[in-house]
Amino acid sequence: MGLFSESEPTNVAINGQRLQCQVCRHDAFWGRDVQLHTAVATFFDLEWTNPSARCYVCASCGYIHWFLPQ
Ligand SMILES: [Zn+2]
Repeated sequence: MGLFSESEPTNVAINGQRLQCQVCRHDAFWGRDVQLHTAVATFFDLEWTNPSARCYVCASCGYIHWFLPQ
């Protein structure tokens, strides 16, 4: 049982562009929605909402790519 529930990493597209890891150029990720802490929400001026971010963890090197909701 790993950190993420999905058994297999998947390809991810952001605005129609295929996501590649910024570090190792791998193209398979585990995706997860994460609640932002209050301090992070304040930093991004998102206090008015119930902020969550989408993160994709590179299946090769583990680098986490964060995306704020549009
Ligand atoms: Zn990577």
